[in-house]
Amino acid sequence: MRVLVISDVHANYTAFEAVLKDAGNFEAVWCLGDIVGYGPDPNICVEMLSEQPNLFCVPGNHDIAAMGKMPSEAFNGDARISLLWQQRVLSASSMDFLNTLPQVIEPDEKVTLVHGSPRDPIWEYMINTLTARLNFLEFETDFCFVGHTHVPSIFWWVAEENRVVLDIPRDGVSVELSGRVILNPGSVGQPRDRDPRAAYAIFDTETFSWTSHRVEYDIKSVQERIREARLPERHALRLAEGW
Ligand code: ZN
Repeated sequence: MRVLVISDVHANYTAFEAVLKDAGNFEAVWCLGDIVGYGPDPNICVEMLSEQPNLFCVPGNHDIAAMGKMPSEAFNGDARISLLWQQRVLSASSMDFLNTLPQVIEPDEKVTLVHGSPRDPIWEYMINTLTARLNFLEFETDFCFVGHTHVPSIFWWVAEENRVVLDIPRDGVSVELSGRVILNPGSVGQPRDRDPRAAYAIFDTETFSWTSHRVEYDIKSVQERIREARLPERHALRLAEGW
């Protein structure tokens, strides 16, 4: 089965649409959370996600906060302004959808899905090999897919050497997964690795291959909607530069 793996859509409909188109044929979508937050299109992103085939989705910190289940003080100034706006505009059906999401999912016997880390599914950033190393002890499957950092990354557990190696995957390059691996597809709607193109990955459940992808989208149109909604200018600017 060809699985589209996405994370951190962040209410960016234009980027999400570009990813769905670029991904071609896929039989399932595994989503690693933060569907809303930051961007101007929360309801349509939730709606489009909910229509995807064989969907498995965990919530992110922004999704949980948008439902009012977390104090908005947990977010910094601009993120908080955006959060309060999302809480105002989110429809009842979007809320219902976000409310049903479990924080940890094993979509098959090989893979665990979380937003942050297996140890702290909502908040921890899988940001370096030390964090990854501690987290390899916290899940049972061979592979764990995470989001939250908005940076495409592959953490390999090298058992013989008892250490973790970090790879930054390149666009269009496939890797065959073996042993134990933690992977991040990067962010659809707000990349933070200085590459503004939307990021996603394709995972093959039979060959265990993982292919990272980037796709351009119309950033200007999203910036316009951010400004129309009077969301923080910073959220518009960062999209063009990928930070
Ligand atoms: Zn995020």
